[in-house]
Amino acid sequence: MNEISENYKRIVESVEKARKDFKRDDKVRIMAVTKGVAYEKVNHAIELGINLLGENRAQEFLQKHPFYSKKAKIHFIGGLQNNKVKYIIDKVSVIESADSVKLLSEINRRAAAHSLTMDVLVEINIGCEWSKNGIEAGLLPGLLAEADALENVRLRGLMAIPPIDAGEQIYADMQRLYEDARAQVKQPDKFDTLSMGMSGDYITAIKHGANIIRIGSALFGSR
Ligand SMILES: *Cc1c(COP(=O)(O)O)cnc(C)c1O
Repeated sequence: MNEISENYKRIVESVEKARKDFKRDDKVRIMAVTKGVAYEKVNHAIELGINLLGENRAQEFLQKHPFYSKKAKIHFIGGLQNNKVKYIIDKVSVIESADSVKLLSEINRRAAAHSLTMDVLVEINIGCEWSKNGIEAGLLPGLLAEADALENVRLRGLMAIPPIDAGEQIYADMQRLYEDARAQVKQPDKFDTLSMGMSGDYITAIKHGANIIRIGSALFGSR
């Protein structure tokens, strides 16, 4: 547990340094990614001041969720099958991994059934890797137009997992895509989130406008 505390301190310091270095005066939120991490450790991170959790796997999330401290918001960040939406819809505040009209329609339908509006990020497969979730950048304008028509879905921004060996241009491309998307959507003032950067690349991501960084191993230790 001590290790988590030291890791967290180190991450906060380097985020603050990056914000100064890159003249980012807006906020950068640190998300704790919980896959494979026991709920006790997750709650410890929340006690240290983490107020945002990232969940990858619906089933693991549903098992741990009852034991989580209620002080943190939860974002779903993993590949999401249509038939799992109903289980998580009332337990998360943002679905970051929306990547098809079909999935967005199901989120819309289930959100309506709970009389809520679900905040979503569209996941972009920015490295065009066949193994990754997310839509191709070129398909984004069409997807945004369709999502804007859904009453119980609110478009809040974009999410991406740049390839391991991505050069800086990929991050710059992602920032550009985010800005173009904001110029397109119906409610640009609500479109305010760029979720990008993990343990190995969050400094580069902050340089290119990320305002949520998703941290697993640098916080909890390697999986
Ligand atoms: C696992 C995971 C992370 C965190 O990865 P680390 O390299 O351990 O920080 C972030 N985002 C997603 C979508 C993940 O699956």
